[in-house]
Amino acid sequence: MTAITVRAPAKVNVRLSVGPPREDGYHDLVNVFHAVSLFDEVTAEPADRLRIEVRAAPGSPVPVEGVPVDDGNLAARAARLVAGRLGVEPRVALRIRKAIPVAGGMAGGSADAAAALLACARLWDDVGRLDLMALAADLGSDVPFALLGGTAVGLGRGERLTPLPTGGTFHWVFATAHGGLSTPAVYAECDRLREDRHVPPPEASDALAAALASGDAKELGAALHNDLQPAALSLKPELRRTLDAGLELGALGALVSGSGPTCAFLAESGGHAADLAAALAEKGVAAFLLCADGPVPGATVV
Ligand code: ATP
Repeated sequence: MTAITVRAPAKVNVRLSVGPPREDGYHDLVNVFHAVSLFDEVTAEPADRLRIEVRAAPGSPVPVEGVPVDDGNLAARAARLVAGRLGVEPRVALRIRKAIPVAGGMAGGSADAAAALLACARLWDDVGRLDLMALAADLGSDVPFALLGGTAVGLGRGERLTPLPTGGTFHWVFATAHGGLSTPAVYAECDRLREDRHVPPPEASDALAAALASGDAKELGAALHNDLQPAALSLKPELRRTLDAGLELGALGALVSGSGPTCAFLAESGGHAADLAAALAEKGVAAFLLCADGPVPGATVV
């Protein structure tokens, strides 16, 4: 086999309920992931040693500066993990083409890790010995979902996944920000903001599950919730203007995606999403505006 290309989707968290910090520093979550049609592609090709190349996907405005091209790249860690489990050398070149905003709260690194897991497994594991979901959980809390895709609720750190039924396609606009937010910094800020309060265990939402199942975008818009949003707004107060602008312009709902700083807006239709993106661009409240639909499948060989 010469080269395997896998694409993996971004996610938006349509509900992120965060419990108190655990002894191990993580938080118990009720994390409802929704995969959207912004895809990173990873091509794995035999090489003399592990090599990483990162570029923007053709036509994508997303800047990729600062993405590591060494073992700090999650895709490299995925390749080493697969090689280690199979007892082979990780002699592979990984060409990463990014369309998912970097450090944007849309799990781009996790998507690349999931894509690299699947691509390397296809290169080296012709008998399918590997449990890719278990390897994905070793790599990070968001990686199993990037393999699974669709819409799913994640418990524990977010990695214990159960698919959720969805009754239709939802149309989204994503407003990226100048500069990223570090996920650990946002969790630390969330803990700081809540330190004088009793923090209950994370909760599911029946209204959200019903909205997803029926495919009713208005209901989904009303049910969107992210416990990390106050922390993201505290670290990047200008996001408030972005969220307010989207709501004033008629978004059915708006929230910070995961740990941010990307803001997600729910639209009524693909056409409404395009209009909303154009109107937001005119307001100058985002670095880039991206339209996408969900749910979409997880990591897939192309
Ligand atoms: P999440 O939503 O899972 O919290 P994120 O979308 O906020 O993640 P990522 O784009 O996944 O953030 O990347 C966060 C950091 O991880 C980057 O700043 C970068 O240093 C590092 N990183 C490692 N591998 C990758 C990769 N393949 N793509 C992007 N960033 C990567």
